[in-house]
Amino acid sequence: MTARILNGNAIRDEIYSELAGEIAALGAAGIRPGLAAVLVGENPASKIYVSSKIAACEKLGLAGFNLTPPATISTGDLLRIVEDLNRRNDVDGILVQLPLPPQVDAKKILEAVDPAKDVDGFHPLNVGRLVAGRPSLVACTPAGVMEIFRRSGILLEGANAVVLGRSDIVGKPMALLLMHANATVTVCHSKTRNLPEVVRRADIVVAAMGRAAMVTPEFIRPGATVIDVGINRVTDATQAEKLFANFPERLAAFRAKGTALVGDVHPDVAEVAGALTPVPGGVGPLTIAMLMSNTVKAARLRRGQSIRPPAAAFVQR
Ligand code: NAP
Repeated sequence: MTARILNGNAIRDEIYSELAGEIAALGAAGIRPGLAAVLVGENPASKIYVSSKIAACEKLGLAGFNLTPPATISTGDLLRIVEDLNRRNDVDGILVQLPLPPQVDAKKILEAVDPAKDVDGFHPLNVGRLVAGRPSLVACTPAGVMEIFRRSGILLEGANAVVLGRSDIVGKPMALLLMHANATVTVCHSKTRNLPEVVRRADIVVAAMGRAAMVTPEFIRPGATVIDVGINRVTDATQAEKLFANFPERLAAFRAKGTALVGDVHPDVAEVAGALTPVPGGVGPLTIAMLMSNTVKAARLRRGQSIRPPAAAFVQR
């Protein structure tokens, strides 16, 4: 079997074209949704993530504000920045890029974000709403995975779903969303026994562990849908040769650059799965798309239901 590849870039473009209509409707009402990103310090990966989020804002015509306090900032000073953003009327969404430096109390900062502007969906109030099945702003990566399922016609009702990983930002909200979609959900983690056996029972697998290519074909029931959330950088030539033994083009690209991205799912899983998200170009683009979607949604909700999305807008509301 050769898996159907679920193209995240195409799904992102679909979402962007729907959002464009909604942004235009808000614009006609004099509203330009705004996203403020707080990037503390000089973490190179965080810088790349934030600049791609701001670039997405620009592409869609949203206002993007980038705040860059130094790595030495105290919890108190960062709290004041967040409180100021909470008060600003031109800011509909606030994201505090993680990780924060060790001297900053990250929980305190995330809880200080106004839940109505919490476009990352990390505030306990929004997490609680998700648990209760009354979601408003949902964590972007799992929300993006749900868009992949829905827009690819993958049925969840009654399906056995296995989520690999139980982090607050991916695994837990993913499991809740799948449960609310009537899948039967098993959540696995580093203490799970007989992991391959548990995963082999799944019709749907979502891998979010941060373990390069750990999910090999032996884990996968033939025909299962496999969503690969992991993003891992490989720089070791021997490892790359093993991973890409059946993918000469990817091996050649690795040799040219000395680096490659792989997910938590081994590339050979494509021979067993029924459908599979690639890395890169699978879940990643959806995370940013859902951040944009949450910002537009926050702009609308914050002003009450008077400004409704156009009928064509199909992004999960
Ligand atoms: P995390 O906070 O480190 O959580 C990892 C989870 O995986 C934990 O629950 C851990 O179990 C579990 N785990 C680790 N090793 C395991 C093993 N050998 N067997 C079974 N479970 C294991 O990571 P995260 O923030 O959720 O991110 C996970 C991955 O997704 C990373 O590669 C990250 O880069 C990627 N990611 C991608 C996007 C995107 O847009 N595509 C967005 C966010 C994250 P314990 O709880 O027992 O420790």
